[in-house]
Parts: sequence; C-alpha cells; structure tokens
Amino acid sequence: MLTGVRTVILGGDARQLEVIRKCVDMDATVSVVGFDRIADQLKGVSNEKLSVRLFESADAIVLPVVGCEEDGSVKADFTEQPLHFQHEHASALPPHCVVYTGMAKPYLQKLCDKYNLRLVELLERDDVAIYNSIPTAEGAIMMAIQNTDITLHGARCMVLGLGRTGFTLARTLQGLGANVQVGIQLREEAARASAMGWRPFMTRDLADEVGEIDLIFNTIPSMIITAQILSRMQTSAVIIDIASSPGGCDYRYAAKRGIKAILAPGLPGIVAPKTAGVIMANALVQLLMEDNPNRGEGK
Ligand code: NAP
Repeated sequence: MLTGVRTVILGGDARQLEVIRKCVDMDATVSVVGFDRIADQLKGVSNEKLSVRLFESADAIVLPVVGCEEDGSVKADFTEQPLHFQHEHASALPPHCVVYTGMAKPYLQKLCDKYNLRLVELLERDDVAIYNSIPTAEGAIMMAIQNTDITLHGARCMVLGLGRTGFTLARTLQGLGANVQVGIQLREEAARASAMGWRPFMTRDLADEVGEIDLIFNTIPSMIITAQILSRMQTSAVIIDIASSPGGCDYRYAAKRGIKAILAPGLPGIVAPKTAGVIMANALVQLLMEDNPNRGEGK
C-alpha cells in the first residue's frame, strides 16, 4: 500500500486518470492539479490549484507521459487553465521527493538536476516499453489500414529495427497474414527473426530491399529512410514512422516523390488511453512502493 505517500499529479490526458485511480486505490494521499473540468468524477483526491505550498510536502510529483515542454508548460486536457512546472515549484520540493514522468525533455532534466531531484522516466524501463509496444503496434496498424487501399493480409511489410516495438509490431503484422521483413543490424537478430518466421536483412542493404515493399514501419530513431532509399521505392508505398520526433524519414523528399510518409507519435495515448494509462499506473505504483518502503507497512 501507499498509505500516507503524498502524491501530486500535475496535468495529463486520459492516461493520467488511470494513474490517479491506482494511486487512490493504493491509499496514497493524492492531490491533483489540472483536472477541474472533471473534478466531480474523481473520488478520493484533493483538487488543487497550482501553488508553491502544494509542493512543499510532496513525496512524489507525477507529470504527464510527455513530461513538460521547454517553457515548463504541462499538457493538461481537463482544464482550461495553463499549467507550468517552474523553478519556484522544483525548488520548493523536499530533497527526498521524486519526479516521475514518461519521457523527459531537456528542460525537465535540467530543472531536476539543478535542484538535485531524482527524475524517473517510466518509458525508459524495459518492462514499460515492452507493455507499451502492444498499443503502439495496434496504433501503427490502425494508421496503416487507414492509409492504404490494400489488406495487410498478403501485404509486403517491412519493419525497421527489431527492438521492443519492432518485435511486437512484426509479430502482430504476421498474425494478420502480412509478409514480414525486418531490417536489423546485428547477426543474432537475424537468427531471432528467422526463428519467428520473418525475413531478416541488414539495414545497410535497405536500398536493395525496398523496391517491392507496400508498407514500411520504422522504429529506428535516426535518419534511415533517406532520399536515396525513397528513390528506390514504389510511389504507392506507405511509410508509418513510429520513431520519436523527428522520425527517421526524409519527409521533404517523400512528399516530392508522392510517397505517403506519416510520422505517428503518441499512438498508445490515441488508440488505447486506458490500457496505456494502466501500464503507466502499474509501473508508477511499483516504483512508489519501492521508493517509500516504510509507508503503509502492514496495511
Ligand atoms: P528500442 O527497443 O531501442 O528499438 C530500436 C531498435 O532499433 C533497437 O533494437 C536498435 O538496435 C535498432 N536500431 C538502431 N539503429 C539501427 C540500424 N541502423 N539498423 C537496424 N536497427 C537499428 O526502442 P523502442 O522502445 O522499440 O522504441 C523505438 C522508437 O519508437 C523510439 O524512438 C521510441 O521513442 C518510439 N516510440 C514511439 C511510439 C509512438 O507512439 N509513436 C511508442 C513507443 C515508442 P540497438 O539497440 O542495437 O541500437
């Protein structure tokens, strides 16, 4: 249990509702900021306005999955009020307080560094990234269906990168009957891909592999689908780029050649906010219990 753990939840989207529910279920003392539009739906929490006082006694601050922007603004779907996490808030936090988010941008990293606050990025954890790969793969497939006029069954699909998301995506495409090729860079990944029934190739040979492809799903977060690669593709091919912004495709040249290339960020929050929220909530609560081992003992 998290009895007595003072948790301040600052902004967020539908995913954060699952985090709030789970923290309340675990008996944490939960204050929420940025939820005034749905205040009557949230039970067991204290609805607050942003103030320095709120931060002075916090054990944990929970920011949205996307953290905060470079000007400190925090995305908050359930309020009209702008929210900012700033120096005055960070400096008011007690030294033991931990700041949790999904993925932190440099502003948040620097703020936490400056005030010696521990920052935990949940999406950096393997377990969270692997669970999150499931709604991500479903979202990528939704985008593929919306943007093609062929079935995925029988389509020649290429997945670039065989990491946490690439693996789940390749398996899901295979389940739909797609013809799956995977672009890898290590020999042992070739063995894994073959064992799974996918055709592996080295991404250094990508230019020779793309000629007949219907769909490319990119998970490699660096420029991989260059103009040279695009020039070898059919113009009917579609690229779904899942990699973090700015993605791995030369969008200017893709548009010039008439190839549909789509950067698709934040898929779990779009296609399955409840599942994505539960994934974050489970990881957060587990960490809060580890970080507060003497709270809620015996409860
Ligand atoms: P990951 O586990 O690190 O997977 C990336 C894979 O790409 C790794 O296996 C990496 O291999 C491989 N790779 C890198 N350069 C390569 C190259 N030149 N050739 C072949 N393989 C290469 O990361 P992930 O969790 O799957 O996430 C992938 C990307 O998707 C990230 O940018 C992440 O932020 C993003 N993402 C987006 C969404 C969304 O909604 N759009 C959701 C989840 C994740 P090494 O490890 O050997 O370098």
